Order: sequence, then C-alpha cells, then structure tokens
Amino acid sequence: SVPAAILSALSAAARGGVLFKGGAALETLAEVRAFAFDKTGTLTTGQAEVTGIYAEDADRFLCKIAGLEAHSEHPIADAIRRATAERGLQPDPVTDVMAHPSEGITGRDDQGPIWAGNPRMAARMGADLPHLEGVSNGAETLIWLGRGAVLMGAITVADRPRDSSRDALAALKARGVTVALMTGDRRPVAERIGAELGLAPDDIHAGLMPEDKVDLVAGLAAKGRVAFVGDGVNDAAALARADVGIAMGAAGSEVALQAADVALLSEEMGQLAAAHRLAARTARIIR
Ligand code: ADP
Ligand code: MG
Repeated sequence: SVPAAILSALSAAARGGVLFKGGAALETLAEVRAFAFDKTGTLTTGQAEVTGIYAEDADRFLCKIAGLEAHSEHPIADAIRRATAERGLQPDPVTDVMAHPSEGITGRDDQGPIWAGNPRMAARMGADLPHLEGVSNGAETLIWLGRGAVLMGAITVADRPRDSSRDALAALKARGVTVALMTGDRRPVAERIGAELGLAPDDIHAGLMPEDKVDLVAGLAAKGRVAFVGDGVNDAAALARADVGIAMGAAGSEVALQAADVALLSEEMGQLAAAHRLAARTARIIR
C-alpha cells in the first residue's frame, strides 16, 4: 500500500496544479538533479504574435500559410491563424496535411504540394534562402512558405517568457538543481529568451530535432536523475526518456501528456520547484 506521507504529498501537489500519475514519480522527483525545459509553450506563454510578413502580397501569403496551419496545434500555428482572422481573411483550403515535428508542416492546395517551416525544412525542400536583412540573424522565429524549392514568402513570430519562468528557474537553481533549455527553434531566439530567463549560453541548446532532445536528456541522465518539461508533439520522446517527464497540462498536446509522468495544470512555473521540495521532504519522512 502507498505510505500515507506519499498520499498526502500527492494531494498537496495536486492542489498546486502538479498532477502525478503515481507515487513512484514523486519518489523519483526527490532524486532529480537536473531540469531540462522545452522553450515554446513551456518556458514561453505559447501565445506567440506575428511580427512581420515578407511576401509580395501579404494577404494572399497569409491565406496560404493559414490554410496549412489550420491543421496544426503548434503555438506558431495559433499565432498565424489569429493574424489571419484579425485581417478578416479566410485560410485557403489545404489537404493532406502532415506535421513534421521541430521543422514545420506540409500539405497540398489546388496547385500541388506546399510546405511551411524553419530554415532546416526549407533546405530539405531544396530552397535557396535569401538573407532577409534584419531578420535572418534576428531573435524572432522565422517560418518560410514554399512550393517545392520555390519560396513564396516568410513570416516572423515572437513569443515571450511566462511571467513565472525566471523565478521558477532561480528557485530550482537555489535548490542545487541544474537547469537547461532545449528547443527546436533557432539559436538567436533561444539566446534572447534564455537571457531574459537568466540562463547561461552553455545551458541553452537550440535547433534540436525530437531525437536530439532525447540524446541531451540521456547525456544529463549519466550524471543523475533528470526531469524534462515540455508541451509539444516534438517533446514526447524526451518526456518518455526522462526519469520524470512533466507535460504542460493546460495547453499542451495530448501526446506530451500521455508520454509524461506528471501534468502541470498551473501556469505558475514556480510550482515545479515547490513540487521538488515537497518530493524531497516526503522522501526524508518515509526513509
Ligand atoms: P520548441 O522545441 O521550442 O517547442 P518546436 O520544436 O516546436 O520548438 O519548433 C521548432 C521550429 O520548427 C519552430 O521554431 C518552427 O520554425 C518550426 N515549426 C514547428 N512546427 C511548425 C508549424 N506548425 N508551422 C511552422 N513551423 C513550425
Ligand atoms: Mg514546445
């Protein structure tokens, strides 16, 4: 039977919005020495905003890219859909849509296959990327739209840290835990967000594919127990690999929740440090 101390810790954590799938996850959390965080939708709000459109006809471009993103649950897709609706525009019909985690999205319109995604995806499609002055090296997320190797334009999206993220990372560090940021987004964006959160450049890992997150978690696991916190389809494998997988519960994807041991229902990231403290205290009681 589950010790009473664990049961009461589980219910205390739940009151703070930290839902453990079982007592074992709480016991493992007590031993966690490193926390790795996804960026988009985890340390940041997931309420991204469109900040620029680089196309001959911005409205036509928006309709096209929104047609693709209508099928995606990514925070970027949400920002593009909102920008389209705000201009009173309708997304173009797009079929055969497929998500490519950490890269973008592909589909088909009345003229054939189209795609939207990051510079890596553009390169995979054979597109030659022009240097967008002030954008290509900038600290905003950059998404290209193309048909095969032909580029149709680009859009920039910016997200911002959750109000509670910076203090939450500091609280974990104060507990002697190492923290790291792991994102599929580009380095300049990761460094801007990381700097706002007080992270050192060495603790920031950018341009990652889902399997890269798994490898980095495995690397940390060689030194002690690891928790991974994420929201996306692209985080599912890292959540499963971590000793404690923690999924963002409110706006996170279903796959992330399924792969995780813990759901964070609160927007208050400080609850993670509180849960770590609670787990450690409970471990001392039952030992
Ligand atoms: P993070 O790891 O920070 O959550 P993701 O791995 O989800 O970020 O996304 C990494 C990059 O992949 C994004 O910055 C974007 O360029 C591209 N991307 C992912 N999903 C989409 C999408 N639905 N539409 C366009 N681009 C996308
Ligand atoms: Mg994410």
